[in-house]
Amino acid sequence: MEEITNKAHVLVLPYPIQGHINPMVQFSKRLASRGVKVTLVTIDYVSKNMPKEFGSIKIESIPHDDDPPQSVDKSLEWLLALLSKSLGAIVEKLSDSEYPVKVLVYDSIIPRPIDLAHQLGLKGAAFFTQSCSLSAIYYHMDPETSKVPLDGSVVTLPSLPLLEKEDLPSFIYESDLYPSLTRIIFSQNIHFKKADWLFFNTCDVLEKEVIDWLRTQYPIKTVGPTIPSMYLDKRLKEDKEYGLSLFKPNSETCVKWLDSREIGSVVYVAFGSLASLGEQQMEELAWGLMTSNFHFLWVVRTSEENKLPNEFMLKLSERGLIVNWCPQLDVLVHQSVGCFFTHCGWNSTLEALCLGVPMVAMPQWSDQPTNAKFISDVWQTGIRVKAGEDGVVNRDEIASSIREVMEEEKGIMLKENAIKWKQLAKAAIDEGGSSDKNIEEFLSNL
Ligand code: UDP
Repeated sequence: MEEITNKAHVLVLPYPIQGHINPMVQFSKRLASRGVKVTLVTIDYVSKNMPKEFGSIKIESIPHDDDPPQSVDKSLEWLLALLSKSLGAIVEKLSDSEYPVKVLVYDSIIPRPIDLAHQLGLKGAAFFTQSCSLSAIYYHMDPETSKVPLDGSVVTLPSLPLLEKEDLPSFIYESDLYPSLTRIIFSQNIHFKKADWLFFNTCDVLEKEVIDWLRTQYPIKTVGPTIPSMYLDKRLKEDKEYGLSLFKPNSETCVKWLDSREIGSVVYVAFGSLASLGEQQMEELAWGLMTSNFHFLWVVRTSEENKLPNEFMLKLSERGLIVNWCPQLDVLVHQSVGCFFTHCGWNSTLEALCLGVPMVAMPQWSDQPTNAKFISDVWQTGIRVKAGEDGVVNRDEIASSIREVMEEEKGIMLKENAIKWKQLAKAAIDEGGSSDKNIEEFLSNL
């Protein structure tokens, strides 16, 4: 790959949770592979288990006196205060004359960095770790300006499929639960107006209509999918994993267990790094998996383990393996995996699409309901489970949805679609693809 002569230094600032670190790390690797100096900015709380640098990417960690609050909502406020105090000093420290810091690529969930960047004389690039559809929905539903009726009927928005209440991001109806987060999410229009670049972890073909529409309003750039290169274009040699995991994966146990299963026979179940199921839902899921009669590999984070029913645990070894964290890409690509039972986080969704794995969608909150709508109705690579009136998805529904994807004719169609999307997503990041061109254009303008 040709090295650019422009000796620029780019700071990359993800919100420090796994689902935001992964895509921004991957984007950093794409930049660094073209000769740009990249420093990933994070906080001591998450960097204590990270290396000081990996590949050519440096890590700059901000010290802090108190630990971040546990609630996502409060931690955003906390992070904002820390950044306002510390970012200037970091930029000064890193601004050596050979590679002057020129741009701050910041996670769009953090609202203030654009002003900080401009005050420090840097350009600011907002990086959206969500789909373009999500941003378009928030754009239309900004409570300050929205005239979209939210009376429970179907919502019609330009260039988006008809959206029922259950397809909309949870913050629209549950704004009281996460007030700061909701305020911040709805203020994303600030980025559209102020940022010098607008990057999206998606690709044109996946959300064509909405991307075309959003482009008529703002100069958005698609730069995804940000999946490690060896699963896509293979131009970044040996890039098989994201590389900065905040959880310790039980890699050997998972792969060994999968190796001993038949091709396409295993249901892989995971709900990402944040989602927390209620006790009753956990019980229904456990028995749904057991009674589906397929083998399953289920990621249950340590904080969730106490919700597993005792009787189920006694029977577990007959059909399943539970781990606290796994190497998700290695698992999805494993030949034994037949489907992904997922919470539909945006990274998990893109990973399943890029690896051609059909899904059973069980969205929990945030953008996941909208991602599930696209999985089931737009890309048609999965089916979505239906919850009962109490909001719980029962064991029969879980078991029958798994069967539908794993063994019925519909499953074959979903698999074929999954393989089609895999090729299309790969083409976007291949040399000369839409996302590849956007990255090149960014670099040539630094
Ligand atoms: N992941 C993983 N191992 C696991 C579960 C998840 O490596 O056992 C990774 C997954 O590949 C994805 C990220 O964690 O890149 C989760 O991001 P996502 O957007 O899917 O969900 P979130 O955690 O943000 O809800």
